[in-house]
Amino acid sequence: MTLTIAGALLDGERVGVRCAEGRIEAIGPEVEAQPGDEKLEAAGALLVPPLLNGHTHAAMTLFRGSGGDLPLMPWLQERIWPVEAKLEAEDVYWGARLACAEMIRSGTTRFWDMYWQPEQTARAVADAGLRATIGAPLIDVNGDEVGMREAALASLEQLGSLGPSIGAALAPHAIYTVSEDSLRWIAALAAEREVPIHIHLSETSQEVQDCVAAHGERPAAYLDRLGVITGRTLLAHGVWLDPAELDLLADRGATVVTNPAANMKLAVGAVFPYPAAREAGVAVGLGTDGAGSNDSLDLLADLKLFALAQKHAAADPTAIAAEDAWAVATGARAPLLGASPRPLSPGADADFLLLRAAAPELAIGELASDLVYAASGAVVDTTVVAGRVLMRGGEVPELEEIVARARERARRLGL
Ligand SMILES: [Zn+2]
Repeated sequence: MTLTIAGALLDGERVGVRCAEGRIEAIGPEVEAQPGDEKLEAAGALLVPPLLNGHTHAAMTLFRGSGGDLPLMPWLQERIWPVEAKLEAEDVYWGARLACAEMIRSGTTRFWDMYWQPEQTARAVADAGLRATIGAPLIDVNGDEVGMREAALASLEQLGSLGPSIGAALAPHAIYTVSEDSLRWIAALAAEREVPIHIHLSETSQEVQDCVAAHGERPAAYLDRLGVITGRTLLAHGVWLDPAELDLLADRGATVVTNPAANMKLAVGAVFPYPAAREAGVAVGLGTDGAGSNDSLDLLADLKLFALAQKHAAADPTAIAAEDAWAVATGARAPLLGASPRPLSPGADADFLLLRAAAPELAIGELASDLVYAASGAVVDTTVVAGRVLMRGGEVPELEEIVARARERARRLGL
């Protein structure tokens, strides 16, 4: 199928975009639809690369608005874990479908997910038309190392066979829920299979203190000693990383995904040290974390929080520039995350957004500044992935049914 977008605005110039076989074939003022193309008139809408959500637990949309003002441990122990013990396949599927619909609506086309029954998330991603790298959470704190390893292998095999839009990752939950032995085993498996590792790291100061007490070293150094930190490692949070850890991560080529909204909501007490990470040369992406602790999946809204938190923490309005923040949110500062290295150019994935040029948030001022400080997901008019139009005019097809089914599943779980 060939799709041609006409009359989109790119850097102030009207352009056409022709997409074939999932890639951009041609882009420029001279590009026009050919006979037989599906044609979409952009009418001056702004053409931009899509957003990339580097850390999610997609199906946790079902937990939205439940226990949102509790401290972390009571929230997990009273609201999350007892319900997760009852999850059925259809719960995960419809929760993830709702997450996908929200991401399409707010301009995210690729995400990195860690959640139970990952094959259901993969099914939702495929049905929605998005892209994702998915891993089953690996936890052996209850002593079940054998079960965890079997599950890790099975889920790698299964997720690795689902085609180009789904990637498989190993997802050890955190250093405090996975044993040293299992972390070594995961590092070896990741190296052997050449798959990424997605893990939470340095979210709270307690985690750092406990790690130093137990192992005599800080979390990044500990993981590095076990072989977990490589160029294929994604570390979610990194709030409490110190300068030596940032140098280590830069040296290994690892990626940190910062989740400012979830960090603020769970009140972790600090802000990811982005200026120091950038200075050290660490690859950085942006994430929402799960809807249970955010509670939104609107990455454009979190982009503002990211930039403001950095400025506020540094007591310096120049700590991050809008262009820099936008690059982080589109995955341009973290090649591991999988965004096209040269988006909106021939040969790149045909993944892009058309934004409402007449939206009040975008109509006046510099685009990057408007996107970061004024816009929300509501400015997205059209979302295209692999040359397929997933949303047009701000309307996600089937949204009503998806919301109804997800609501049904949440009720079933007593949420
Ligand atoms: Zn998380």
